[in-house]
Amino acid sequence: MICPRCKGKMNKNGSWTDKRSSVKYQKFTCKVCRRHKHYRLGPAPAPVKDPVGISVTELRSRYDNNYKVELAVNKLEKDVFLTESEFIKVAGIRATNGYRAALDDPKWDKNKGRVAGIVYYSHEDSIKQMKNEGILT
Ligand SMILES: [Zn+2]
Repeated sequence: MICPRCKGKMNKNGSWTDKRSSVKYQKFTCKVCRRHKHYRLGPAPAPVKDPVGISVTELRSRYDNNYKVELAVNKLEKDVFLTESEFIKVAGIRATNGYRAALDDPKWDKNKGRVAGIVYYSHEDSIKQMKNEGILT
């Protein structure tokens, strides 16, 4: 920016936004004569609205126990066995309608085994090994 009075160089010296019009202004100050000039930069971008609603993934991760069980099963590690109550806690399952059915889905039979009345969850390889050795049934 060149000073309109003395043709000296003007430096940026702060900016602000007019709250009413949302117009942004840049202030310049001449290094030579100290003249000030305000330069209009245009209206501020429209504020981003908070999104309304949640995605299907968010909805599922809040309320869909089948989805939560599947996520938690996929995170089970080899050689680590969780009791059912630990598994429920890790999965974030809430004791709402259908949570029992979600846990008892036969497709997760490969991820759990029972001993002494306690159900353990683990990676299917570890469950398989324990069942082969007769430790879990
Ligand atoms: Zn000047």
